[in-house]
Amino acid sequence: MKNVGADLTKQIKNHNLKEKYRLLAQKVLNDKDVLKFLKENSLTKVDAIANLSKLYEFVDKKQKMECGKETFAPGYAPHLLLSGRRVEVIYEPTQKLVKWQLKMKHSRLVDLIQLPKQLRNASIQDYDVKGREGPLRAALTFIDECRNYTTTSQFPKGLYLCGSLGVGKTYLLAAIANHLAEHDIQSLLIHFPSFCTKMMGAINENRTTQEIEKVKKVPILMLDDIGATRLNAWLRDSVLGVILEYRMQNELPTLFSSNYSMKDLQEQYLTFDNKGSSEPLKAMRLMERIKFLAIEYKMEGPNRRNPS
Ligand code: ADP
Ligand code: MG
Repeated sequence: MKNVGADLTKQIKNHNLKEKYRLLAQKVLNDKDVLKFLKENSLTKVDAIANLSKLYEFVDKKQKMECGKETFAPGYAPHLLLSGRRVEVIYEPTQKLVKWQLKMKHSRLVDLIQLPKQLRNASIQDYDVKGREGPLRAALTFIDECRNYTTTSQFPKGLYLCGSLGVGKTYLLAAIANHLAEHDIQSLLIHFPSFCTKMMGAINENRTTQEIEKVKKVPILMLDDIGATRLNAWLRDSVLGVILEYRMQNELPTLFSSNYSMKDLQEQYLTFDNKGSSEPLKAMRLMERIKFLAIEYKMEGPNRRNPS
């Protein structure tokens, strides 16, 4: 005898499955991106039903992303692709992820030590050139030379930017670093007075060698505000002297900014240590290295920090 109960259960199950399938198909065929995709590819409703599972995968993942729900590949958005008459779902990085990845790459390439983080946005495109035409041209040439440095053996001489406070010396260094990063060239921009204070603090912990090694060897080094605080003999000879000597010997591009001209830096700053002892020969040796590494440019113009 026929089992009526079992038959009925089967029918209800079938009915429920059909109903589920109908709702699923409805959800997929109401999605505006699916409709657009079908139209663009001249696909019929029959094609859509034949590819329902892929279309459903697309709609489901897309809606989860829109609601901020975690998907199996965070940061990747689903896209529909037609292969013959078969629909595929591919996953591509979202704009947000691409932006984040670029930002991470940039922060690996531009290291700012003790300098405001907003310098990461400094750009040569936004640079107000008035009074600074020479330094700007030199900056552009320097960037080009650095880009070609691997293919030519022409050592790119850096810039020694001098000028009074607020004329935009640090800003220009940061803009150069940001442009170099766009070409995958790594640079380190250091606020030199703060670096010296940090080095003094690191003496007892034996961390100075490690710090000096990093600064010595970075592909592009920028020493910002050299001359702003007095150096003791150790900082002048065993830190600055060692870094400059290494970079000169290895032809590693190096840039500087200072309130002093090169001449004044040598005579008024490098000659004297913080105790006032005079060492003109040592100052001359250091200046020879700086002159090997960089060309002096005077920056002029209004004080942009405190415009009068
Ligand atoms: P300096 O290092 O010569 O003392 P900064 O580079 O710190 O001067 O510049 C002073 C201020 O002016 C900063 O806030 C900087 O962001 C801004 N600034 C400098 N040059 C420019 C520029 N060309 N375009 C836009 N802002 C600038
Ligand atoms: Mg500055």
